[in-house]
Amino acid sequence: MTDAVEPLRILMGPGPSNCHPSVLQAMARPLLGHLDPDFLAIMDETQDLLRDVMKTANRLTFPVSGTGSAGMETCLCNLVEPGDPVLVCINGVFGTRMADIVERLDGKLHTIEAEWGKPFEPEQVREAVARTAPRVVAIVHAETSTGVLQPLQEISRIVHEADSLLLVDAVTSLGGCPVETDRWAIDALYSGTQKCLSCPPGLAPISLSPRALQTLEGRATKVRSWYLDMDMVKNYWGSQRSYHHTAPISMIYALNQALKVIVEEGLERRFKRHRLNHTALVAGLEAMGLSMLVDEEYRLPMLNAVCIPHGVDDAKVRRALLTEDNIEIGGGLGPLAGRIWRIGLMGHSSTRENVMLLLNGLERILKAEGAEIPTGGTEAAEEVYEDAS
Ligand SMILES: *Cc1c(COP(=O)(O)O)cnc(C)c1O
Repeated sequence: MTDAVEPLRILMGPGPSNCHPSVLQAMARPLLGHLDPDFLAIMDETQDLLRDVMKTANRLTFPVSGTGSAGMETCLCNLVEPGDPVLVCINGVFGTRMADIVERLDGKLHTIEAEWGKPFEPEQVREAVARTAPRVVAIVHAETSTGVLQPLQEISRIVHEADSLLLVDAVTSLGGCPVETDRWAIDALYSGTQKCLSCPPGLAPISLSPRALQTLEGRATKVRSWYLDMDMVKNYWGSQRSYHHTAPISMIYALNQALKVIVEEGLERRFKRHRLNHTALVAGLEAMGLSMLVDEEYRLPMLNAVCIPHGVDDAKVRRALLTEDNIEIGGGLGPLAGRIWRIGLMGHSSTRENVMLLLNGLERILKAEGAEIPTGGTEAAEEVYEDAS
């Protein structure tokens, strides 16, 4: 590395988010062996912390080695056997990715779709479940590509009445809004470390219910992935502690510390903070004449999809924010490319200071671009904070 000073980027995109300094420090701790009793104690503690944050008593709760997509692949490949009917709900990039994985597993793929930017209605799921009798229903809780929060309780009831398993992507929601694994009867939940858990990317916390474990143990065929076969990996994270693959020690230090930061803040306070910063950001953006993609009721607090005003150069604005203000935001994906910006307020990045920096920077840059922007964006956001204090 050169001795040039690394810029301290303000990460307000769809992930990674900024980390608490103590999380980065944890990664610099000396290594322990992956079967060292001191390390096993850190694993136990990490599992307990994960159960707290995921709101579950599931024994099978631990971080998979890999990013969020590895968590997705783990849940699907352990629960789906060739020929099994699987219903995947697609309203964005990550539902599309789940469908791709099901095909690679030779599952019998059924899909339902909702418009990108809209959630699924329970009735649509009910009809599809009745028609396809799936073994697994897979759905995304927080669609990071569109900013939609998917209500799950009614859908969970429908899935369980049909005796199917509910598989949920909580990569972006975990740590930023309520995720009630047990109360919502989620059978397979996966997340990722670099969104609202505010840890570097590299682990995928998962949780499998006793029903999911039964399904896994009752398989007629081997899991299609050796690395992600939870029937083996669970013996390292369980009491046997038998070697499967070397745990990514430093990442587990980091996750352990990130979860401690979360528990110390308290989940309720953390969700409230995410909600407040989101409300202030939206008030500011709307005062500037910008509009949100998603209806208010279904907006994610940690990922704000903003429609790009007509005639404004998407890439140019994002580049200016990065080079002039040190702020990263995301562009749109798929059909939303060039149509939206994705402004993340995830975990440690969700602060009043960041909201104000973003609104100031965006107003200045849009004006320089010649867009007609009414003033009052930052004032509208300030007002939300004043009202809340
Ligand atoms: C980021 C994300 C993923 C994929 O996680 P990676 O860490 O990029 O592999 C999956 N689902 C959702 C909803 C995400 O936001």
